[in-house]
Formats: sequence, C-alpha cells, structure tokens
Amino acid sequence: MLRFAQTSESIAATSKKLEKTRIVAEYLVSLDLDDAARAALFFTGRAFPRFAEEVTQVGGSLIWQALAAVSGASAAEMEAAYRRYGDLGGAAGELLAGQTESRSLSLAEAQNALRELAARRGPGQKLDLLSHILRRVTPLEAKYFVKILTGELRIGLVEGLVEEALARAYKAQLADIQRANMLTGDIGETLRLASTGRLAEARLRLFHPVGFMLASAAETPEDLVSAFPQGGVAEDKFDGIRAQVHKGSGKVKLFSRTLDEIVEFPELEAPLRSLSGEFILDGEIVGWRNGRPVAFTEFQRRLGRKHAELFLPLELPASLIVFDLIWQNGELILDQPWTERRAWLEALLAPIRQPADSPAVQLSSPSPASAESDWEAAFQAALARGHEGIMAKAADSPYVPGRRGRYWLKLKRPLATLDVVVTAVEYGHGRRHAVLSDYTFSVRDGDRLLTVGKAYSGLTDAEIRELTGYFHQHTVEDQGFRLRVQPTIVLEVAFNNIQRSNRHESGFALRFPRIVRLRPDKPVAEIDTLERVRELYELQQGNQQR
Ligand code: AMP
Repeated sequence: MLRFAQTSESIAATSKKLEKTRIVAEYLVSLDLDDAARAALFFTGRAFPRFAEEVTQVGGSLIWQALAAVSGASAAEMEAAYRRYGDLGGAAGELLAGQTESRSLSLAEAQNALRELAARRGPGQKLDLLSHILRRVTPLEAKYFVKILTGELRIGLVEGLVEEALARAYKAQLADIQRANMLTGDIGETLRLASTGRLAEARLRLFHPVGFMLASAAETPEDLVSAFPQGGVAEDKFDGIRAQVHKGSGKVKLFSRTLDEIVEFPELEAPLRSLSGEFILDGEIVGWRNGRPVAFTEFQRRLGRKHAELFLPLELPASLIVFDLIWQNGELILDQPWTERRAWLEALLAPIRQPADSPAVQLSSPSPASAESDWEAAFQAALARGHEGIMAKAADSPYVPGRRGRYWLKLKRPLATLDVVVTAVEYGHGRRHAVLSDYTFSVRDGDRLLTVGKAYSGLTDAEIRELTGYFHQHTVEDQGFRLRVQPTIVLEVAFNNIQRSNRHESGFALRFPRIVRLRPDKPVAEIDTLERVRELYELQQGNQQR
C-alpha cells in the first residue's frame, strides 16, 4: 500500500495524461497479478468492483470521527486541514503526520480491511475498526486508504486513464480493454484477462449491471432534424427512476444509474419474473395513476423506503416502462441496431402488451419522425400525456453503455428561470476548496429575503475568484463553514423543477439549480418573488396531472 500511495503521489504531481498512464502501467507490471488487480481497482477510487454488493458504508462523518480520535486534533485544526485539501484523504495525511508507530500495509491487507469494514454492522463497530487501521498505517497510506473510502483519489486519474494504462502495460488494444471492462464491470478482472491475452473471453454476467446509455440535450425540434437526417424515432421522456432489470434463474434484480440495487419496488418483480427466459432490460420506473404519470416530486416519496410504509405501494403504484433490451439468453445484443433490439423486446413483452393486463410493466411507444413537424407533434403529444418531453433515437444505433452520445437526444420543455440574490456562501470542494463557490440564494417576499436553493455550477473560475474577494468584503456574519453576505449579487438560475421543502425559508427548493448568468443589471428590489415560485410550482403540478 505504501508503494501504491507513493505512485499515486507521482501521478498527482503530473498533469500530463500520457505521463500518468506511463506511471500506472510501470507500477502495475512490477506487481504480481493479484496485487496488480487490487491496485487497478484502487486506482479507480473503488474499494470493490462496480458490480459488487459490498459497500463499506463509511461516510464522511465516520471518517471525521476516526481522524479526530486517532490524531487528537482539535475541531479547529481538523477544519483547517480539511480546508487546505478540500478532501478528507489529504486532511488525514496531514493530521496523522506525527504518527510514528505505524507500519506499512500490503495491498491484500488493505483489501481485507475494506472487506472487514463492509462486514461490520453499525457505525460504532466500523468506527473502532477504522480507528484501529488509521492508527497502524503510515500517514501516506492513511491518506490513500481514506481516499478509497470516499470513492475518489483526486489525482486526476479517471477510469478511462486506468484503462489506457492497462492497454499500455499488457500491450492490448484500448477498445478491447474498454469493452472487457464494460462487460465485466471489474477493472481487476479486466487486468487479469489482458495480462493473459484473454480479453475476448470477457462476458457480461447476469446480475452484474452495465453502464446505462445516456442522452445529450437538444434545444429544438429543428436540432433533431439535423441530428437525424434519415429520420429517427420519438419516445415519450418519462420522468422517473432509470432502471436496468436483470432476470435469470427465477430471480429479478433492478439496478439504478449508479449501478446500485433498487429495492423499493417489490410489485415489479412478479410480472418481470413471469416473462420468459433470461434477459437484461432498460427502462424507467414511474408512478402511474389512471393511465397517466404521477409527478416525480410526488412519486419520489417511494424512494428510500422498503418496508416502512406498507400501503405506499398501493397509494403510489410503480410502473416500469421498458424501452430497450441489451442481453437475452446468453446473447449480448448491444451492437445490434435499435430496430432489431426493439423487435426482440416486443416479442419478449408480447404476453403483457396490454397495459390493462399488467400495468406494472409497460412497453414504450416509439413513433417514427423525420420532418420538423413530426418531432414537434411527438413533443406536443408527449407533453399532453403528462411527460416532460421526448427522447429522440437513431433507429440504426447500437446501445452504447455509459456514454452520453448523439444517438439519443432529449428534448425537454423549457422551464422558466428565476432571478435570485445570493444571501450566503460556502467554500467549495476539491479544486474549489479555497474559493467561495457554493451559493445559497433567495427570493423576495415583501421586504424579506427567503432562501430557495443552493447552486454550485454555472460560473467560470474567473467569475468565482472575483466573487470570492467581493463576498469576503461584504460578509455580514462569519458562521465558520458559511458566510452570510449582503444581498447584492443577483443571479439567473435554471432548474429542473420545484419541490416543497422544509430546508429553505421559502418552503420551496429548486431541484438541480444551475447558474445561467450573473445579472449585474438587475437591482435586488426587482428579483423574483415567493409568489412567482408558488405560481411556477403550481403550474408544474398542473402540467404533470393534466
Ligand atoms: P435527463 O435526466 O434529463 O438527463 O434525461 C435523461 C434520462 O431520461 C435518462 O437517463 C433516462 O433515465 C430518462 N428517460 C426517460 N424516458 C426515456 C426513454 N424513452 N428512453 C431513454 N431514456 C429515457
């Protein structure tokens, strides 16, 4: 683990991608196969392969407590160390720097320690073990052990670069490495296959989720005409929870976009189990009532609750709307064009084609479109059915896991933006730990300002730097982790939708807010009001329920 940590430090020290992959490759080939597989996994910032069900469930606050206990540092010292690095691993390295009775861990021991952390039940037991580990290891190893726990090494080494390093180390084609990694979901396993020249043997395994195909954004129906000159298909864009269904040997599992198992919708299992054979499907889980989708803001009450609310599934039943098929009875069909996959999907779902038979599983209804008027009509029809827009798909396209490409384009109803004023600011994370980049913003209600959201993205680095200086000079109250500032900076923010919320003073929260631009031209007295937020919220609810 010490050499792994030292290698990671050299990787962090160069910004050149080629140099990073060279360092990784040289280090990997110097290890035996088992250690190389472990190191490759750790380089991706993961404790366990993507498909694994194991999770350490060691979050920031547990790490913080362990660091406090082991280092004996005061809260202020810890806060300062965290500020300097913007990352718990960096802070750990510094806080434990005085530790002398430590010895180095092997990569196998580090892996065992991670497994043991995952196996321990309850935060108390995990805290004991983590403290024990941190006490034993050298500060540099502690730094990287903690980084693995937080899921990110922050050394500028994304998984794609680890794949490049494998190609270099084992003289394999990058495309073969990428495909094997996509199919196995395990960079360590990919390394083993590459090192023995068996990449072609990589197989997708049932119950090991693969990355989802993602869509890019289109602004207008005209964009779709130029993106798909031969025409394409339009499908409703369902606003719910993306799900990948795996079915085999009488078992059904659903996985989320983060490739975690979804356990909240037991009512979907029986109808999926009743379909013949083994398969992997792609679809969206939505609330469905009287033949229409339920607003996501309402449906999401079902998330995070498994058994707690016995009647919630009855009150808010879920439907899975299936739109793709990527594997069937041992055969990978990702590379087949959409039209072929669709034909197989229709055959598979034929027994439950009628929604009345089983509304829990439905098939999407694509329609061909080529002229601007076709796309426009499909878009309007989707809105009228209560969806948030359309997905436009190229009929001859393969299924490309984990990529946001141009084969799928989404066209969504534009939501109004709001002009708001910044009332509190916080330091950012990572690269932005030294600048004030997280902005809590408010709307007007008479002469009061009420918070309605917090935005992190949308401004340039230069703008953030300038604003940091400005906010320091216009601080009303320093609350340590947060500065309350004079309400003078007006922003235009876009968002996905509005939710009711107890967290913000206005009683509403903007979901996924992003800053569109600074509005120095707009005085605070003219920003949007609570009344306007309420109007938009009601409009949105009406749109969803119509
Ligand atoms: P967005 O979340 O706005 O970036 O839109 C992309 C998401 O829309 C995808 O990840 C899917 O979860 C979802 N989606 C909804 N309807 C469809 C559909 N018919 N085909 C593919 N993805 C869809």
